[in-house]
Amino acid sequence: MAVELHVAVATPLHKTFTYSHSAPLAPGIRVLVPFGASASTLGVVVDGPNQAKPSGQERTFKLKPIKEVLDQEPVYSETLLKLASWIATYYMHPLGEVLRTMLPASAKKSTKVTFEITDAGSRAPDEEDLRPGILFARKKTITHATIRKKLIDRGFTAPQIEELLKSWIKKKWIAPYREKSIRARDQVSTSPATEQSSFIQSQLFRKLNQHQQIAAAKIITDGISLGSSAERKPFLIFGVTGSGKTEVFLHVIKSVLEQSASPDGTQGQSLVLVPEISLTPQMTRIFEERFPGMVAVVHSAMDDSERWLELERIRRGEASVLIGPRSAVFGPFANLKLIIVDEEHDGSYKQGSGLLYNARDVAVVRANMENATIVLGSATPSMESWHNALSGKYHLIEMPERASSRPLPEVETVGAKPAFKAVSFLQGRSEDSESSPFSEEVIKALSENLTRGHQSIVLVNRRGYAYYLLCVDDRKAFGCPKCSISLSVHGKRKTLRCHYCDYNTTIQQVLTDYPDKTWAVVGYGSQKAEDQLKKSLPTARMARLDSDTVQDPHVLPEVLAKFRNGEIDILVGTQILAKGHDFPNVTLIALLEIDQLLGLPDFRGGERTFQLLVQAAGRSGRGELPGKVIVQSLRAKHPVVQAALKQDFASFAKDELEFRRAMGYPPFGRLILFEFNGPDPAKLDRWCDALEAMISQMFDKHPDLARSVKVLGPAPAPIEIIRGRSRRTLMVLSESMQNCRAVAGALFKYSDQAPSDVRVKIDVDPQSTL
Ligand code: ADP
Ligand code: ZN
Repeated sequence: MAVELHVAVATPLHKTFTYSHSAPLAPGIRVLVPFGASASTLGVVVDGPNQAKPSGQERTFKLKPIKEVLDQEPVYSETLLKLASWIATYYMHPLGEVLRTMLPASAKKSTKVTFEITDAGSRAPDEEDLRPGILFARKKTITHATIRKKLIDRGFTAPQIEELLKSWIKKKWIAPYREKSIRARDQVSTSPATEQSSFIQSQLFRKLNQHQQIAAAKIITDGISLGSSAERKPFLIFGVTGSGKTEVFLHVIKSVLEQSASPDGTQGQSLVLVPEISLTPQMTRIFEERFPGMVAVVHSAMDDSERWLELERIRRGEASVLIGPRSAVFGPFANLKLIIVDEEHDGSYKQGSGLLYNARDVAVVRANMENATIVLGSATPSMESWHNALSGKYHLIEMPERASSRPLPEVETVGAKPAFKAVSFLQGRSEDSESSPFSEEVIKALSENLTRGHQSIVLVNRRGYAYYLLCVDDRKAFGCPKCSISLSVHGKRKTLRCHYCDYNTTIQQVLTDYPDKTWAVVGYGSQKAEDQLKKSLPTARMARLDSDTVQDPHVLPEVLAKFRNGEIDILVGTQILAKGHDFPNVTLIALLEIDQLLGLPDFRGGERTFQLLVQAAGRSGRGELPGKVIVQSLRAKHPVVQAALKQDFASFAKDELEFRRAMGYPPFGRLILFEFNGPDPAKLDRWCDALEAMISQMFDKHPDLARSVKVLGPAPAPIEIIRGRSRRTLMVLSESMQNCRAVAGALFKYSDQAPSDVRVKIDVDPQSTL
């Protein structure tokens, strides 16, 4: 008898669909279903238990049947399904798409159960009309789903199919097939998790200093050790750079491993979220030393199937600690007890396309659902978390001193060279010494540090547009014909590239096309900085890390390892270098090009600048040797820069929160950002007019909403055109979460009526409003 199943289909439509199937399926099982023009679209069974009910009854149309069942057991646990539905509502994103985002794409492949036909099986007697040979049809292996389909066609029911397969396995006619590449990483341990706790390398744990002890004890007492139903508040560790937060995390994880085994014998598991792939090797190494065989890791250099294998170890309870970037927050834990969000302020926790979730916020929600303890850590907490700590919503733990009992580094500012001096005229003139972006003080300090045999980091806060082609006659940047931003100069061959749409050309081409104009390359990025430094310090061993060089996933770990081993004197790079690294022999940090961050047309400009300065400075003087930081800036007197130089987070946060409160910005106000984009600006503007009319109508009808909700825009986005599509943004801002969502919800609904070539993008809690 057929049953009806509710399926969340991975499409942009915001609803679930009903399909029929021969037998009930548990929620969390993935299926392929016919949808629209596509014969098989991925979907997930979401309702359950689905009641047996003849399909077609009480209906005027016939339900379509499910095409293929992909899993034997649910790959989404009850909690993950609950989390998915929370995310779909909160981020206004279709449930099917949310579910698809949560798992690596190749999950499909590896959860398929496949059978292999044995020699005995292929020789099975002829007279039996159902021998494996017929089903396998000369193939060596076939999937469970295919066998199932063939047997259903022959009139078998689901239980009969399972019965038959079992009997064939018993007769050794078929065998479950294992792929060879099942070992994901070198140290995969096959012993059950419960036996592993004895392998914790306790002798490697450092003796905690006083602040660390207090921090760990508080998290264990007020978090980990609470009964399973007790309510937990999140913890925020505000610990200066180098205060030894990692050691606290390790101790807390150890206590989870020692304390908790669930009734079914699965050991308590921990999730460690890290912001960037670049942090993973260092973290991984430390964690694997302490907890050998117990650690699973996912990172962006892995392909989907490798990722899936690691996640499977977590799902089966074979691994007890998962380390990974934001997507790891969806890990299929069997018994999650603890979540750690390292560098919780980091913008990379926010996904930038598709489902625009913030992994830190999802982690807080998930911890609450799982009744797990959650610890956020940072030297520069986000205003959101800091506000929660001040208001008592979070426990606040402070670690004000460096673990090595070294003072924080000494910081000095020097004036920057105005950007125009960093010009190398292309026609006739060669690059003269004037075009060096470095002030003499910076070169001198680097050179002295080199002589002392210490290591330095040069951090160039370049964001693509810092390095561009300028028409000297009319002082205009050479821009992308399709996007309203300047093209960036890349590489030795001097190509020009648009960061938004990838349009590219060459400087040579521009010179040919505009023979009467004078052109100059203005600004500099990490690459130019490295070239110039090599001229000034020819004996220094240098390497560069930025988004260009880390395209190759091997470069990053290699360079970091070399730097750690002392084979590199000066590491030049972008923001990548500011984050989390612990290189004890680095005693000098030079920071360049921070001014443009301050001038960012975004309310988080100040916060971002403060974070960058403090985090970067925090990489200096972490070991036995005292550290120094030089900031090259034209705006050294700016209060944000001043607070950062003194590493004075509290006073920065006080000013910043006052400003946010006055403006109604987060964390006081809730912000939802809409983007509408389309190829035809006139059409887009007409749509925006309609939208405005709808909003004023709504406000007329609901004066309470009008009073409490601000709608800014629609207005052209700061980057007005991307990939040939014009962009308009609209911000919904309110101190009331509920009202903010009410207005956003109405806009969202109304957007169904947008012209078909106008796309709507909704960003709840945007990290950037550009
Ligand atoms: P954070 O993450 O807070 O910036 P780390 O955890 O990276 O800081 O620790 C900074 C340095 O201090 C590391 O080199 C670490 O090995 C060292 N360290 C941590 N705890 C101790 C301790 N109790 N005693 C001595 N050194 C410590
Ligand atoms: Zn472009």
